Order: sequence, then structure tokens, then C-alpha cells
Amino acid sequence: MTRPTIARRLLDRMFVTGEVVEVETVAARMRRIRIGGAALAGLRWTPGQHVRLLIGAGGLLGGVLRTYSVWHHDPAWEAVDLIGYDHGGDSPGASWVRNAEPGQGVAFTRPEGGFVVRPEAAYHLFAGEETASVAFGAMLRALPEGASAFGAVEADGPDGHLDLPGDLVRVCRDGAPAARSQVLVNAVRELDLPAGPGVAYLAGEARTIQAVRAHLVDERGWQRRDVRTKPFWTPGRKGMD
Ligand SMILES: Cc1cc2nc3c(=O)[nH]c(=O)nc-3n(C[C@H](O)[C@H](O)[C@H](O)COP(=O)(O)OP(=O)(O)OC[C@H]3O[C@@H](n4cnc5c(N)ncnc54)[C@H](O)[C@@H]3O)c2cc1C
Repeated sequence: MTRPTIARRLLDRMFVTGEVVEVETVAARMRRIRIGGAALAGLRWTPGQHVRLLIGAGGLLGGVLRTYSVWHHDPAWEAVDLIGYDHGGDSPGASWVRNAEPGQGVAFTRPEGGFVVRPEAAYHLFAGEETASVAFGAMLRALPEGASAFGAVEADGPDGHLDLPGDLVRVCRDGAPAARSQVLVNAVRELDLPAGPGVAYLAGEARTIQAVRAHLVDERGWQRRDVRTKPFWTPGRKGMD
């Protein structure tokens, strides 16, 4: 019997390996990519958590990591669904999303992260663009029964929105940059929210998130601790996690 190489053993310890088993276009620039395989059995995941994909031909030595939220996972499954937004560049993540096809091998870290639902919240407020809407879908499905959810999701155009549970407001930036988006801030400003604060989950482009948080804290009087933020990307930064 041949012994696995050190690199192979390291890879198996740090990453779960599977392959793309299904790809579906779910919005204008968004693809749902199902990764399956025996190594995915028993994976633990809390909705809102993400994985980090090892992308590139160099494997452990030459590959890069890019972060994607898990859209769906069922403990009975040997699979996870990710949804990637193709932001149009030739960068590793966007290229992977654009070119994913059944049969391709994938290595990714186990689900992790603290951007998850706070069940005790009086109500839940979500705001972000396409990339954030993936985590929001998983979190909305995980809300306790009877919980109230509000929010705004921005996409470039009307066909760019994911189908999310609940009644979040959909807004379009119509070709404007998603970074520092006033469209999203204005949409949150216009939400008719209950009198007191709830818990906010803000994700997506870092500076847009800051502006939405400033609105909640300065204009609506929320405490910063009630505003959970998770910057996913920002111009000039690569591979945030
Ligand atoms: C916790 C977490 C969860 C995430 N979940 C998802 C998810 O479920 N789906 C998803 O699509 N993305 C998700 N992201 C965002 C994704 O990881 C980034 O968009 C990532 O930068 C894409 O990698 P890349 O190789 O294409 O670009 P990078 O090499 O990282 O960056 C290259 C350039 O592209 C720009 N860029 C990156 N993303 C965007 C964008 N969305 N729009 C415009 N310009 C961009 C960067 O600012 C940079 O200038 C998540 C990020 C985090 C931290």
C-alpha cells in the first residue's frame, strides 16, 4: 500500500475535499454550486457560517483561499450548496464561480464563523448586496418560528436578486458601484421598523456596511453591540475572510 504524501495528509487535515456535482444559475450573476462527496458526511454548520475554498492549480502550496457562505446544508446530505456572485473580474473567486462545472475537484475548510442568528433578538434586520444575500438566505431560514425579519437587499438589476424567504425590500443600484452604496443606506433609512432596536446583520462591501451602521447608530439610536457586521470585500483588498 502506498503511503499518502505529507502534502496529501496536510490537505486532508485542513480541508474537506469533494467535487462539484451540480451548478445552477439562480440570479443574473449568481450560480449555486453544489459540492458533494463522502468526506462531507457529518459536516457541522450553523446557518450564516462560511467555508474557505482553496482555489488554483498549485493546491496547498500555490492556491489561494476565497470565502463563500454556505447557502444550504443538511446533516443527512453529503453535500453543501454555495452561491457565488460573479463580480466580473479575472480574480480567483469570480473565475471559479463562472467556470465551475460538475466533476471539478474542490477543497474547502470546515464551516466556521460567528455571523449567525441571535435568536433572542426582538426582531432581525438584514442589509447587504448580492454576496451578503447568500448568508441572509440561510439565516432567514434559521430564524425561530414567529420571529420578525426586516431588511433591504441590493443587486445591480432586478434580475440579480436571490429568492430569499420573507419580505426584505429589494433595491437596484443600476450600474453604480456596490462600494459605498448610498442605494442600500437609503433603503434601510426608509424601512418602517418597530420603535425599539432589534439585532442588525450587515454584510457585503465594507464601507457600505459602515454607512448603514452609522445610520442605525446615529440616526436611529441603536447601540453598536446590536449591529453585527461582517465585511465580505472592499475595493483593493483580496480574499477577505
Ligand atoms: C464571511 C464571508 C462570506 C462570503 N460569502 C460570499 C458568498 O456567499 N458569495 C459570494 O459571491 N461572495 C461571498 N463573499 C465575498 C467573496 O469572498 C469576495 O467577493 C472575494 O473577494 C471574491 O474573490 P475574488 O478572487 O473574486 O476577488 P479578490 O481577489 O478577493 O479581489 C479582487 C478585486 O475584486 C474586488 N471584488 C471582490 N468581490 C467583489 C464584489 N462582490 N463586487 C465587486 N468587486 C469585488 C476586490 O475588491 C478586489 O479589488 C464572502 C466573503 C466573506 C468574508
